[in-house]
Amino acid sequence: MNKLVFATGNMNKLREIKEILSGLDIEVISMKEAGIDVDIVEDGDTFEANALIKARAVCKASGHMAVADDSGLVVDALGGEPGIYSARYMGEDTSYDIKNQAIIDRLNGVPDEERSARFVCAAALVLPDGREYVFVEAMEGRIGYEIAGQNGFGYDPIFYLPEYGKTSAEISPDEKNAISHRGKAMRKMADFLRGLNI
Ligand code: IMP
Repeated sequence: MNKLVFATGNMNKLREIKEILSGLDIEVISMKEAGIDVDIVEDGDTFEANALIKARAVCKASGHMAVADDSGLVVDALGGEPGIYSARYMGEDTSYDIKNQAIIDRLNGVPDEERSARFVCAAALVLPDGREYVFVEAMEGRIGYEIAGQNGFGYDPIFYLPEYGKTSAEISPDEKNAISHRGKAMRKMADFLRGLNI
């Protein structure tokens, strides 16, 4: 069976991708299971570039096909911030309560129609023969006026989904997975893998 190494240290993401790829003749393994420990510098300036940098490095180190994702929040009224710097915004160790409140404060006085934002995810697939593919998907919403919800993580409590009347931290994990940037990008990649002759 072909092995696919998923470039993440996040066990939730690993479980998620295993589930999405479960119908395929592919064994999904972590970097640890592949026996690799690479220090990857994500210095690309787009989500696509960073996802590719990670997938390439893991493919090279393991000799197996590799998948990596890179995601973040893009706020239109902030010129696209925090974007690729979403994890590092205001410092990696700053709590999301503080980061989320800061974004709400920066949008003080901005009307509904200008509060548009999206979560973006790029999922990169790199094959040992050099083939590379990237799938980019987004989940559209708005920056809310207050922090709300306990589910999800990161910026979910300020990401308001008008069609639900709730933030993405207030919908269930299954609901979020069905519409999320990451869920969509990973399923697109899985569909593509299904069609590939490997
Ligand atoms: P990563 O590339 O998946 O590690 O995500 C980078 C950062 O983007 C995370 O640390 C979060 O700050 C933010 N982010 C990405 N996806 C989500 C999401 O679904 N909800 C909330 N925050 C997210």
